[in-house]
Amino acid sequence: LEEQLRQSQKLEAVGQLTGGVAHDFNNLLTVIRSSTDLLRRPDLPEERRRRYVDAISDTVTRAAKLTGQLLAFARRQSLSPEVFDVAKSVASVADMVGTLTGARIRVETQIDTGRDAAGQPLSCLIDADPSQFDTALVNMVVNARDAMDGEGRLTIRVRRASIIPAVRAHPRIRGDFVAVSVSDTGTGMAPEMLDRIFEPFFTTKGVGQGTGLGLSQVFGFAKQSGGEVVVESHLGQGTTFTLYLPRAPGEAVAAEPVQEPPPLAES
Ligand code: ADP
Repeated sequence: LEEQLRQSQKLEAVGQLTGGVAHDFNNLLTVIRSSTDLLRRPDLPEERRRRYVDAISDTVTRAAKLTGQLLAFARRQSLSPEVFDVAKSVASVADMVGTLTGARIRVETQIDTGRDAAGQPLSCLIDADPSQFDTALVNMVVNARDAMDGEGRLTIRVRRASIIPAVRAHPRIRGDFVAVSVSDTGTGMAPEMLDRIFEPFFTTKGVGQGTGLGLSQVFGFAKQSGGEVVVESHLGQGTTFTLYLPRAPGEAVAAEPVQEPPPLAES
């Protein structure tokens, strides 16, 4: 939880930074606007025309550099991947979800990972940064909560999957994945909106409420872990975000180590 708070403080800092950059960016736009206005003059000498065009070109370059730096900053994540059981991480994040959502949102966690021949739950090992995973999960949960206006059902589900379904622009992909989904019974999203939600800084939440970086983090984490994030949404009904993460190769079948029999007493 401390790590999540640290992450959200970082996002807040990025949000403030964004305000500053937006200001600089606006100044650059002002230069471009006045240069184009000057260019519209019919009797403009050739030499001056060239000067204004150069000014526009230079300014566009500076603006592109500015946004490039900002994106690099927003995406900067120190990753320390390790093999861990997603089901266990989800269970521990799920424990604190109630405090995020409030009493009138029903939270359900389903760990549907199947069982081995001995009846033990199968593990869901992945090789990724565990704290980035937690952050991604919390980001999806917070969005689900915000979509529901205080009332509804939030479901977190973990299962194994052998296919990433073809949804919107996504092709169908085969593989060994752990699928972690967060579903809500909230507002849902129109297709035009779904096209934009992964863009950094895209937010429909009020000033000071959203940074528009939550889903960028989720997307970045999925990609850097060799996975995908898929969204299905119906206006007025709800939304499901699913993280598909490749299962770690060579994982043991049983989630729990087989209990060693107690050593025989020396006689
Ligand atoms: P933020 O939460 O700071 O706005 P995100 O990148 O996490 O930034 O989300 C971007 C936008 O996507 C949100 O502002 C919201 O409009 C939309 N969105 C994300 N998740 C959901 C959801 N579960 N239901 C409805 N809209 C959502």
